[in-house]
Amino acid sequence: NTTAATASLHTQNGRGEGGETNSAGEGRLQIVNENQEFTQELSPYLAKWGLLDKGFAYDVVSVFGSQSTGKSTLLNRLFGTSFDVMDESRRQQTTKGIWMCPSAYGNTLVMDVEGTDGRERGEDQDFERKSALFSLASTEVLIVNLWEHQIGLYNGANMGLLKTVFEVNLGLFGGGGDSTKPKPQEKTLILFVIRDHVGATPVSNLTATLTQDMEKIWASLSKPANLADATLSSYFDLSFATLPHKILMPEKFESEVLELRKRFTDRSRPDYVFQPSYHKRIPADGVGFYMEGIWQQVLTNKDLDLPTQQELLAQFRCDELAAGVTETFLASSKVVRKPVEAGKLVEGLGALMRDWLNTALGKFDRDASRYHAGVYQRKRLDLVSGLHASLSPLFLGQLKNLHKIETARFSKDIVKGTKEVGYDFGKVVKEGKEGARERFLEGAREVKIEGTDWEYEHELALLDEDLKLIADRCRADETKKMVNAIERTAKRQLLEPVEVALSQPSAKMWDTVLKTYKQVSEDGEESYLTKAKSYNCSDEENETALASLRARTWLSLRRKLEEQTSDATVLATLRTNFEERFRYDEAGVPRVWKPADDIEGAFTKAKDETLALLPLFATVSPSSSSLLPELPSPEASFDIESDPTPFDPSTAFVLLSPTKLLSLETRFKREADAAYVEAKRSMVSSVAQ
Ligand code: GDP
Ligand code: MG
Repeated sequence: NTTAATASLHTQNGRGEGGETNSAGEGRLQIVNENQEFTQELSPYLAKWGLLDKGFAYDVVSVFGSQSTGKSTLLNRLFGTSFDVMDESRRQQTTKGIWMCPSAYGNTLVMDVEGTDGRERGEDQDFERKSALFSLASTEVLIVNLWEHQIGLYNGANMGLLKTVFEVNLGLFGGGGDSTKPKPQEKTLILFVIRDHVGATPVSNLTATLTQDMEKIWASLSKPANLADATLSSYFDLSFATLPHKILMPEKFESEVLELRKRFTDRSRPDYVFQPSYHKRIPADGVGFYMEGIWQQVLTNKDLDLPTQQELLAQFRCDELAAGVTETFLASSKVVRKPVEAGKLVEGLGALMRDWLNTALGKFDRDASRYHAGVYQRKRLDLVSGLHASLSPLFLGQLKNLHKIETARFSKDIVKGTKEVGYDFGKVVKEGKEGARERFLEGAREVKIEGTDWEYEHELALLDEDLKLIADRCRADETKKMVNAIERTAKRQLLEPVEVALSQPSAKMWDTVLKTYKQVSEDGEESYLTKAKSYNCSDEENETALASLRARTWLSLRRKLEEQTSDATVLATLRTNFEERFRYDEAGVPRVWKPADDIEGAFTKAKDETLALLPLFATVSPSSSSLLPELPSPEASFDIESDPTPFDPSTAFVLLSPTKLLSLETRFKREADAAYVEAKRSMVSSVAQ
């Protein structure tokens, strides 16, 4: 072991020679340089040393004592560090500043202060004071390194400095606060290491003297008013160790150093130094910021207010952590932003969002919860609401897309449903609506994040509205289709009876026509009402449809009547009637005119009887006016035709005007006359044969 130790010492010396520049060596870092500037490299170095993610699972130890008392030598032997050691033979100057190095034996940060050389002692009290203050504020264990023969020299420079440091330190611990008791983490262990211990004076005497000195210093401190009664032991625990002369008794020195190291590494020992109550409770990833803050306060000579310092640290770190997790969070959520914006429904979006949130908050909680509780809670709320806000457009987009998809599907479902044989329109709409609503709600619930004030009630109301509009539109189309079909049936049913009735004109024909019309109309309405039952039509819609149906049926009749009373048809009807009378006898046998026959008499009778039928066509005139139908409202027919004639009571039942009658009469007479001449001629020719 001795060989290894010597070799190790050589290495350290080698590094010391290499440390002429102020830059940090490979395994150590100058956290404060000669210009009293704090490094920006601490966190990267902690990362390099594998300590940055250790949370609270690390410790800090630093050293205090006169120049050239073997401090650096001790640290290097105890922790395997590589601090510069004064080379006695060459009086080589070491680099001033505060240095940090990780222990080779456990997660311990070791700090060494390098002041000016002993010959210049007294000239740089300022830096010594500042670095001592800094060490005390940031360390769990402060090693006070001193030679045995320095003990009891109460007025020595060392003890004077210690007094000043205690004084300011007390100010900083109690500073500004109203608490009269230190917090548990404000306690520090002072470990006196008595060097060059010869053994002539028993250790117990030495420790008693040192304890008395400390109590004396404590009593002589000018304390803040609220801490006037504070005892030394409420801030510091004292502990002691001795080491033999390194040069004179190198082997004994080595073995005792190894023994002393155990107090820094073996948790099971009762004198293990890193007791939890000494820990400053600063997570490792906050150490860089925290220590820099303390150094700045030391520099500006402000009273060190550690609680404020810890809140500042918490704010800084929580912000940093929040920014970090937010960045990852946004990167994750980016993949779905495009599809959502493009109108695509992202399956399981809610689960994805929950997952991102859990990941982000899980990481934040793990790292940030180690900091000041109040600050952490506050920053967490900020973070959560920030993350929620960034997800909100996704939520709204998904709702919009759900709406769009469900309305489109609803339209399609209705079309599909109404293509099936024997479909029930009302049922098709109801089922379609329920399905759309259900799927919308399911999607909306899935994507709503707990703990947000997001709501989908408004979007649901919009969906209901749109579904109703679509259903109304389809229903209107459907009723129109139905009315058309019924109208066609009605038209067909009117056709024959009307044609038959008008081709055999008689006083009774209008009764027949109107009775048929009444029956057909009633059948049509009944058929509509039966079918409409399943459509869930409103009374108003039914009224409109029925009115339209009535108007259309009436128009069908009216058109048929117009057709039957056209010039050609009327003339053809009259001609047939005339011929039946004139050309056939009572038995229906065709007449062959003989000279003895009264052609003229027969002709006149047939002509007059036929002409008497003509006025029957002029108006619709049933035997009783009660048989005349009520005319449908013209408004309902406006979509069919704009001619008001069929709906005006003064014209609706008029088919032929008097002028028309006259002209038809004239034309008929002419035809009849022709038939008469023909009959005469046929007789003459038969006689001639
Ligand atoms: P520091 O200035 O307190 O860090 O002291 P160094 O570790 O640089 O050592 C200063 C000088 O003291 C060096 O020459 C060391 O060899 C020497 N030295 C180291 N340890 C001891 C020791 O235990 N006893 C004595 N007498 N000298 C030592
Ligand atoms: Mg040193």
